[in-house]
Amino acid sequence: MVDSRPVVVVTGGSRGIGAAVSRLAAARGFDVAVNYRSEAEAAERVVADCRAAGARACAIQGDMAVQADIVALFDKAAAELGPIAHLVNNAGVTGKSSTLAEASPDVIRSSIDINVTGVILVAREAARRISTRRGGPGGSIVNISSVAAEFGSPNEYVWYAASKGAVDSLTIGLSKELAPDGIRVNTVAPGMTMTDIHERSTEDAGRIERIRPHIPLQRIGEPEEIAEAVVFMMSDAASYISGAKLKVSGGR
Ligand code: NAP
Repeated sequence: MVDSRPVVVVTGGSRGIGAAVSRLAAARGFDVAVNYRSEAEAAERVVADCRAAGARACAIQGDMAVQADIVALFDKAAAELGPIAHLVNNAGVTGKSSTLAEASPDVIRSSIDINVTGVILVAREAARRISTRRGGPGGSIVNISSVAAEFGSPNEYVWYAASKGAVDSLTIGLSKELAPDGIRVNTVAPGMTMTDIHERSTEDAGRIERIRPHIPLQRIGEPEEIAEAVVFMMSDAASYISGAKLKVSGGR
């Protein structure tokens, strides 16, 4: 670990879970690079909140499905904030909900591009930067999966559930591969959480209310509740945890 505040890169940090992770990480002693794809103003608001909490922070645009953007994100974050110690591999999309038979191939392909190929390429870049064997500070990667990997999301987005199964497998292998490099790798798997992702995937306004009774705690999670688990996984309190999956899903 570095002596000063450790630097974390949060992909998809402008809204939802990534924004909550960025704010909490800043409050808990991390400096934060907030990646976003298109919503610059939202990202700048998150950066302002991080700075108000005493952190150094910057917003960096980049499409995490594009290799050149991934490299540029890590280059810019390191130039602005110093050596990167942690990655929150969070950017993800569901695509418009439907049965698989009705889904557009473009929706499926773009979801896999970001949720699987992008997530793996982002983890690759982080491994190269954080590894103690490559001169980095050591640290951790937290991959954001979903309970969908276990439920399968039938009639909504089975391709999304499958992509999160891939994220779970990535953590298993990468945690073993990167242990000698001083990098812990873990998964946080949220259940249904109150973010924009739902209204962007479906026009079905009653969906959340229909799902709520099936959640043992009888409510939808807040992004701040997911952020607590993510920041814990990055913290020294989790120093012996690697290859783990922590479900944060109200008991579901
Ligand atoms: P969200 O509110 O829709 O926010 C998505 C974030 O990802 C935004 O910051 C967005 O940037 C960014 N993003 C999307 N595509 C990107 C790309 N190609 N490159 C870079 N950034 C990109 O989503 P969320 O609900 O917070 O979800 C965050 C993660 O949690 C996802 O991996 C999701 O699968 C997972 N998750 C969510 C839930 C839930 O119920 N909300 C449950 C389980 C798992 P812009 O602002 O610039 O668009």
